[in-house]
Amino acid sequence: MSDWKPLEVFGLAKAEKQAWLLDELNRLTLHHQAHCAPYANLLAGQGQQAGVAESLDAVPFVAARLFKMLCLSSTQPEDVFKTLTSSGTTSQVKSQIVLDRDTAALQSKVLVSLLSSFTGKARRPMLIIDHDGLTGDKAGFSARGAGVQGLSFLGRDHTYALNSDMTPNWPVIDEFIAKYTNAPVLIFGFTFMVWQHFIEPLIASDRSNLLPQALLFHSGGWKKLQDQAVSNEVFKTMVRQALGEGVAVHNFYGMVEQIGSVFVECEQGHLHAPSYADVIIRDQETLEVKNIGESGLIQVLSFIPKSYPGHSILTEDLGRLLGEGDCPCGRKGRYFEVLGRLPKTEVRGCSDVF
Ligand SMILES: [Zn+2]
Repeated sequence: MSDWKPLEVFGLAKAEKQAWLLDELNRLTLHHQAHCAPYANLLAGQGQQAGVAESLDAVPFVAARLFKMLCLSSTQPEDVFKTLTSSGTTSQVKSQIVLDRDTAALQSKVLVSLLSSFTGKARRPMLIIDHDGLTGDKAGFSARGAGVQGLSFLGRDHTYALNSDMTPNWPVIDEFIAKYTNAPVLIFGFTFMVWQHFIEPLIASDRSNLLPQALLFHSGGWKKLQDQAVSNEVFKTMVRQALGEGVAVHNFYGMVEQIGSVFVECEQGHLHAPSYADVIIRDQETLEVKNIGESGLIQVLSFIPKSYPGHSILTEDLGRLLGEGDCPCGRKGRYFEVLGRLPKTEVRGCSDVF
């Protein structure tokens, strides 16, 4: 693995980024072919020989659902550090993601580097819209717990805002607000939980302008909010009504199969690919590569996964490529929006548990 740390998170020009990322991904394809027999069989079945792709869109991809059907691991059993599972209702089959120490460490380092480009280097007092007790069990580590743990490196004085029955823990919330109302704080939670268990109760309680210097990161599916006709714009408006006009709100998109590589929404409302990852949109029937302005299935690329063959994944999410290198926010790279899930597939997502 070449050194990723000197790379500016959103600063690489197109040619430079493609050269760096392609080199990393080709190396990973060869590594997984050599260390994961089911993956090697998949490539062989697609007629793909020991692969050196000549462009990012030629890197072979694995369908996200295969992680539910097969144990895709490139790690010896004795080197498994922990296994992540996607959250879901018990009737659904969960994805199993096998991590060794190096991959787990890389995930959290990249995530912190990426998100601190929004929060700044200083650790902020952090309010977590969840309950304490998510992050204990190493063997069956949930995606929700992993998300909270990954972001906790950005914060200090970690405060869990909810009781275990998901009701707001008002004494704890009020104490956090009293202590930090004039400080830059960080709030994190899964989108639907932030809405249902924090913002709605705050508004119903007639509290307003509570944490005007907050930055809110939220992630997870929009489906439940769409069912309630809550768009991203409505979400942001209500967050600012409760917490303060100047509050920065950033959604981010990521897969449990690629933790650490996330696509963060900028001030323009666009999800951005960082230097270490990329996104390709493919036609949902033919899988041909789509151009700017067109929608289709989202494929995600990341240099992180070494313990399992998840460096190139075709998701079941629909998205639209919005542009590349020219977002008014100044960040380089591709930017896109998520349109929802492919119809008629099972619904799976971090925040869909509740
Ligand atoms: Zn932007």
